[in-house]
Amino acid sequence: MSSNANSTTTSTRSNEPLLSVDGLRTFIETEREQFPAVDGVSFSVDRGETVCIVGESGSGKSVTCESLTGIVPQPPARITDGQITFDGKRIDGASERELRSIRGDRIAHVFQNPQQALDPVYTVGDQIVEAMTIHGQRSGTSARERAISLLRKVGIPRADDRIDEYPHEFSGGMRQRVAIAIALAADPDLLVADEPTTAVDVTVQAKLIELLRDLTDDDTAILLITHDLRVVASLADSVVVMYGGTIVERGPVDTVFSTPAHPYTQALFDSYDGLSRRNDRSARGELPSDGCRFRAECPYAEPACEGGDQPDFYTLDSDADHSVSCVHFSPDGDPERVLDASTEVHSVSEVSR
Ligand code: SF4
Repeated sequence: MSSNANSTTTSTRSNEPLLSVDGLRTFIETEREQFPAVDGVSFSVDRGETVCIVGESGSGKSVTCESLTGIVPQPPARITDGQITFDGKRIDGASERELRSIRGDRIAHVFQNPQQALDPVYTVGDQIVEAMTIHGQRSGTSARERAISLLRKVGIPRADDRIDEYPHEFSGGMRQRVAIAIALAADPDLLVADEPTTAVDVTVQAKLIELLRDLTDDDTAILLITHDLRVVASLADSVVVMYGGTIVERGPVDTVFSTPAHPYTQALFDSYDGLSRRNDRSARGELPSDGCRFRAECPYAEPACEGGDQPDFYTLDSDADHSVSCVHFSPDGDPERVLDASTEVHSVSEVSR
C-alpha cells in the first residue's frame, strides 16, 4: 500500500512491501455450516508503515491477521487459498516449525486481552527474558537489562523493581503494556495488534496509542485491527476497510477519511459518535452469497450489484492508491460516484481529537 509521512523514509530501503497478502481465503467449518470468514483478501504493509484494518465484528479482521502466521485455530478454521509473502519469502504453506520461528521473532502478535500473552505463574521479567532467549536474542544479565529497558519503553514506572512482579500485580492497562513488551522482546519487523486498546479506559488508551506511534518511529511496521476511527486517525498511514470477509475499500488514511467512497465506509463514518461503533449488522446469515456482500444494506444497490464475485477494485480519480470495490466506480458506473464520495467530509485531525 502507499504510505505517508511515517513510512516514506523507511519504504525507500526496499521497493518490496514487508508483508504482501494476495487472495487469502479462510473458511470456518462447523457441524452446521461452512462459510468463508475471509474471502479473497489482498493488501500489503510496507516497512515502518502502520496499516489499520477496520470493520465490524464478523467482518473477518481477526481471522485475516491470525491466518498470516497460522495461529488461527484449525479446525474450525481452514486456510484454503492465498499467497502470503513476508520479507520476500512465501510463508503460506510453511511448516509449523517454520511458522514458529517467524512468530514472535519476525512477526509478533498483541491481543485484545493481555491475559492471552501472560502466564500467571511467572514474573513479567521471566516472561520477557524467555521471549528473548527462545528467539536467540540474548540471555543472562544482558537479557534482564534489556527486559528492564523494554518495560521502561512501554511506560512501566519503577521498571527495575516491577520486573520481578507477577501479572496479577499489574492493572489491566499495565498488563497490556507488559504484553507489548513481550511482543517487542525479539525485535520483530511486524507487530500485529488486535484491538489492543479496547479493554482499557480512555486515559490508558491514549497512552497506548502514543506508545504504538513511537514504535513506528523505531521502524517497526504495525498491522492494527480496530473498530475505533479515533485510533485509526491517530496512528494509521493506510486503512483497509472490511465487510463480510472481504475488503471493500483501501487507501492512504488522509484520502479515505476525506473521501470515503464505499457506501459501507460512508455508513461507518456517518455513525461515528466518538466511539465509532456502528451496530454490528453483518450477521453471516444476512449476507448475500454472490455479488456485492453489502447489497442488502446498500442504498445505492442496483441489478449490476447481483451475481458473480465481489465487485472489482477501482481507483479513485483523486488518488491512484485509493481503491474501492463498488460497481459505481467502474468506467460504466455512476450513481454520482456514490454522491461524490460522501458529502460529509471528515478530516483525520477532526476525528483524532
Ligand atoms: S456494488 Fe452495489 S451494493 Fe455494493 S456497495 Fe456498490 S452500489 Fe452498493
